[in-house]
Amino acid sequence: MQGVLETARLLEQGDASSEELTLDCLRRARSHGRRLNCYISLAEEEAVLEQARASDQRRARGAGTPLTGVPLAHKDIFCTRDLPTSCASRMLEGYRSPIEATVVRRLREAGMICVGKTNMDEFAMGSSNENSYFGPVANPWDPERVPGGSSGGSAAAVAARLVPAATGTDTGGSIRQPAALCGVTGLKPTYGRVSRHGIVAFASSLDQAGPLGRSAEDAALLLHAMAGPDPLDSTTDPRPVQDYPAALAAGKERLQGLRIGLPRQFLDERLDARVGELIQESARLLEQQGAVLREVELTHQDLAVAAYCVIAAAECSSNLARFDGVRYGYRCEEPRDLSELYLRSRTEGFGAEVKRRVITGTHVLSAGYQEAYYLQALKVRRLIRDEFLQTLEETDLLLGPTSPTAAFRRGEKIADPVNMYLSDVYTVGCNLAGLPAVSVPAGFTGGLPVGMQLIGPPFSEGLLLQVAHRYQELSDWHLQHPPEPPPGEPGQAGGTPP
Ligand code: GLN
Repeated sequence: MQGVLETARLLEQGDASSEELTLDCLRRARSHGRRLNCYISLAEEEAVLEQARASDQRRARGAGTPLTGVPLAHKDIFCTRDLPTSCASRMLEGYRSPIEATVVRRLREAGMICVGKTNMDEFAMGSSNENSYFGPVANPWDPERVPGGSSGGSAAAVAARLVPAATGTDTGGSIRQPAALCGVTGLKPTYGRVSRHGIVAFASSLDQAGPLGRSAEDAALLLHAMAGPDPLDSTTDPRPVQDYPAALAAGKERLQGLRIGLPRQFLDERLDARVGELIQESARLLEQQGAVLREVELTHQDLAVAAYCVIAAAECSSNLARFDGVRYGYRCEEPRDLSELYLRSRTEGFGAEVKRRVITGTHVLSAGYQEAYYLQALKVRRLIRDEFLQTLEETDLLLGPTSPTAAFRRGEKIADPVNMYLSDVYTVGCNLAGLPAVSVPAGFTGGLPVGMQLIGPPFSEGLLLQVAHRYQELSDWHLQHPPEPPPGEPGQAGGTPP
């Protein structure tokens, strides 16, 4: 299965039909996708092929647009009408939303065909996809390892060439970190660039949706269709969306004299040595193309994970209060009274990590502790944002690693939440500051992909994609793909709820 751009070309030239390609995606989802456990639900074959045939007819009439008939998958956090939306939680198992997320609607209206909903950490809380009620996702490069999280199913599906592209959400790194660990390109937009309407909320002041694809070109095509103001999300920004795909060609020129900051705190001894070397090599490649490198200081970075943990937990405890056994999803059997209905529905419906966050969040917001934790974290957030914006006045963008290591083994960090949260050390800052950032494949260590992260000022998605695209013109890391297992082998990661 090709990427978005190649698929669009095949369709345009009449060398393939959307019907064939959609069927191929479904077949691959049922075989290799099952082994990786990257889907939670798949589109009903006849219904989706019907949509594919309609897009083939649209193209035949000359009424197609670039994305007409191109298959994609949505993270199972986006509300869809045709398929259930579970958020990988027992709480929402089989839940059918009455609404469709704006992102889903826009990509559908742009002509894309949704073949399935991808696995994820429950309610997007996690960095390894081990927190899914539907079982862990395997990394296609090594099935013993995690794909990253929380958009691990989307990243694994794109990396394993099961689907041209997928959507994800990023609250603290959940697009970029799995993109890095699976060797694909993932972009987290500026807060407010993409509508959150119809995305199950985790931490509303941090959540953003974005694309995962093979290349910056593919990410640009998707983001262009996803982004823009939405009357259904008052935090979306009114400014018009740049034509990201058209802007890519200017990347070469844009690099001349481009000031790239290398944050010292992202490249110190805590970073895996080989990952650090690859990031430095990538920076030098851009320097050879005319960029000007400079070391910069982000002195508040050490506080980012702590502030994120407090703020994300606080917002999650509030957002997840709606799952009470009355209005949505799971309800316990035969409660004795109303408080037992609440208590047991939530106890039985949520997994361990979600409960940990709800309890932490409730604590940091409670009377007597709110000032010490929540309000303090908001002040730190402000310092982090101000420092980023200041640094991005002296430079045009920042370059560093996406994640401190390549993919770790399943089970390695799950019993040690603090260690797990530290996987997000380079990504959470952008969410706290609302900045856009992209992760692109930048090499391999021990046969596992490594991601480079580019961070820009608000609404610099066009610039980030230009630089990422130019980097991909000069390198071929993004073209590498994991080996295909022989057909018919049983799955490594279990695919059914406990
Ligand atoms: N890994 C981070 C967390 O567990 C980020 C999750 C996300 O971005 N949704 O909270």
